[in-house]
Amino acid sequence: MALDFTSPQTLDEAVRLWHAAPGSFWLAGGTDLVPEMKATLKQPQRLVNLKDIESLRGIAETEAGVRIGALATLTEIAESDLVRTRYHALAEACRAAASPQLRNVATLGGNLNQDSRCPYYRGAFPCWLKGGQVCFMREGENREASIIGYHECVHVHPSDPPNALVALDAKIITRMNGDTRATPAMDFFRAPLEGDRRMNLLEPGEVVTEIQLPRFPNSQSTYEKAMDRAFWTFALVSAAVRVDLEGDRVSAARIVLGGVAPVPWNAQEAEEGLKGQILSPESVALASATTLVGAQPLAHNGYKVQLARALVKRSLLNLAR
Ligand SMILES: Cc1cc2nc3c(=O)[nH]c(=O)nc-3n(C[C@H](O)[C@H](O)[C@H](O)COP(=O)(O)OP(=O)(O)OC[C@H]3O[C@@H](n4cnc5c(N)ncnc54)[C@H](O)[C@@H]3O)c2cc1C
Repeated sequence: MALDFTSPQTLDEAVRLWHAAPGSFWLAGGTDLVPEMKATLKQPQRLVNLKDIESLRGIAETEAGVRIGALATLTEIAESDLVRTRYHALAEACRAAASPQLRNVATLGGNLNQDSRCPYYRGAFPCWLKGGQVCFMREGENREASIIGYHECVHVHPSDPPNALVALDAKIITRMNGDTRATPAMDFFRAPLEGDRRMNLLEPGEVVTEIQLPRFPNSQSTYEKAMDRAFWTFALVSAAVRVDLEGDRVSAARIVLGGVAPVPWNAQEAEEGLKGQILSPESVALASATTLVGAQPLAHNGYKVQLARALVKRSLLNLAR
């Protein structure tokens, strides 16, 4: 089948081109989409290349905080002084992803739309997420599967930056035909369900244009990632933690876990216990112990509960220094 490649210069033109042909896909860095095409997991008829659209680039301060264009690469974000000083968790999450070569090309917009990395989904199995009847990971090799928040499919959301975006109360700005919508990062991701197996809220033809981060008066954040090897691999478990302080007391906290659920998982019980507390060994121990209280591990992934609790403890103790 012929593949049509288009490179529009403006967003209006890109949206028009996407809707003008059936089987259109957005193309950014191509680090996920191109391997999926080679594996025939995705078979676009038209690629709408976003990379010539200048308005989707850049990282800049705004009145409300910081704006990151969808085409910003993970390297640009990890190395941005603005992001490193104000949104440390996001810089660290981008730095912890993939390899330097991939980060130089991979964009934030593409990362938010990264497809499942479940080996059954990527392999030659008619799995549930691909439209089949059975989630093979549930009873099969489930060491890397979800332990909470899953329904029919037990895969985990594979991307690092979304965990930090949720912890930092980011908004994801998208364009659908002529309309623009702003979705809190917390609401953007979804666990695939019978009848709607999408991993996020994007409608066909909707495109991520930018990410907006709010200004925090007195806040610190951090990102920890546990992996099978030191780099160039996906998280077994990760933790994005933000703490807002009034004096020496916590006024608000966000604890968001990666590698445990089909979405960035917000550990609300742990957050609640920190409000009004000084970050002490006792309050940190309580937050750690109340992380993932409702988890339902599968046969081979119970270790993730302890790992998540350890990462939460380490993150909070680091922020307390
Ligand atoms: C070996 C390897 C290791 C990796 N390790 C990690 C890791 O540890 N952590 C991690 O987070 N990621 C990891 N990744 C994934 C990598 O970060 C993603 O492939 C990358 O972020 C995707 O960005 P891209 O610009 O290349 O997207 P593309 O491949 O161009 O697109 C990916 C998907 O997003 C869609 N898309 C792209 N841009 C937009 C947009 N603006 N709006 C709407 N849809 C859009 C495309 O249509 C496609 O479906 C790894 C990848 C590889 C190959």
